[in-house]
Amino acid sequence: MIYKNLYIDGHLSDLTVTDGIITSIQPVQSGVGIQDSVINNHDSRTVDCHAMRWALPAMVNMHTHSAMTLFRSAGSGLPLQQWLHDTIFPLEAKLTPDDIYRGALQAFDEMRSSGTTAFNDMYFCTESTIRAAAEKRMGGIVSLSVTDADFEDPDKALHTHRFFNDYDRTVSRLPHGITLAVAPHAIYSVSGKHLRYIADFAHEHGLPFHIHLSETQAERENCLKEHGVPPVVYLDQLGIFDKVGQHFIGAHALWFDETEIRILGDHQVTVVHCPNSNLKLGSGFRFLYNELRDAGVNVTLGTDGCASSDNLDMIEAMKVMSLLQKGTRLDAAALPADEVFRIATENGYRALGMDNCGIRTGAHANFFLVDISRPPFTILHQQDLSPEQRNSLFLNQLIYAAHGDCITETITF
Ligand SMILES: [Zn+2]
Repeated sequence: MIYKNLYIDGHLSDLTVTDGIITSIQPVQSGVGIQDSVINNHDSRTVDCHAMRWALPAMVNMHTHSAMTLFRSAGSGLPLQQWLHDTIFPLEAKLTPDDIYRGALQAFDEMRSSGTTAFNDMYFCTESTIRAAAEKRMGGIVSLSVTDADFEDPDKALHTHRFFNDYDRTVSRLPHGITLAVAPHAIYSVSGKHLRYIADFAHEHGLPFHIHLSETQAERENCLKEHGVPPVVYLDQLGIFDKVGQHFIGAHALWFDETEIRILGDHQVTVVHCPNSNLKLGSGFRFLYNELRDAGVNVTLGTDGCASSDNLDMIEAMKVMSLLQKGTRLDAAALPADEVFRIATENGYRALGMDNCGIRTGAHANFFLVDISRPPFTILHQQDLSPEQRNSLFLNQLIYAAHGDCITETITF
């Protein structure tokens, strides 16, 4: 495939993809590109972008419950614990594997159409999510979500143990681009005994350990009451970080003190900020981005499931993350557009072990095209902009002015 006359880093370029790899990026000589592309319009392997598309590396949604597209806006107005127990858990008890498959299909359609090609999912019936991901050519991690009930209730325990016992066989049949992980739901729903068991399993198989962590102030206060220490110190005392190290992925990560941030940084873990979900459920908004980044934590971005975030639009999530940093720090320069975009792409690639991504020769073709004829991008069509100025303006317009619907095409091979 040849994409002609599209912008890359502020430069009008032609981009060639061969066998799933970007094999060439050539600058377009001024005045030649559009004329030249008309000649190639009959060739189905050539797409002429007429200087109205901008290519960017695809995004990674680092915390999802994909099938929850079925529950958009469910329990709206309830705080987390009431929302979970009165609305979400009773709904989930009725789900069939086919429901989960159909919910996940819808999620992956939405992700792809808004520039996301990889995800980090936490749910049950992993085989349904895997099937949907393969059909939609999505990559990422599918993790089995477990609570104590999944070990103790006889019917559920059967399924849980099947996941752990059949792990090797399941892995050997996974579609391209999908890996497995284990996901204890949270410290308030999984006992220390089971957290240790899951961490041992993750350590033995080199798997990510994905958990909801310090999502609410109540979680932190209850942990202090029950264990005498805050959540991260509690997990450290259980030996979880020593076992899983960099494979630890903590979703939400809102309520930390300095000691906890130091522990997370020392182990170079990944955390996932889910700003829309946190705001919708009234869980909090002071995400300590600078502190976590400076301590050595890999900070990534996610939407959470659609029952709390209502959509899977990572452009919206980037905007809200950036605005919250500016607002809570009283600093308009905090978390600028280029940095929040790297959080949604490069930091996600690092967490998922996705090597060789980005728009450059030799990298995997994994990118999306933005329609810059749309109103948010009018400012880019001034004649006297340098490539650097145009690039900076583009990222600002994308994150603060546009939404995921400005994306016309998402390419993965
Ligand atoms: Zn979640």
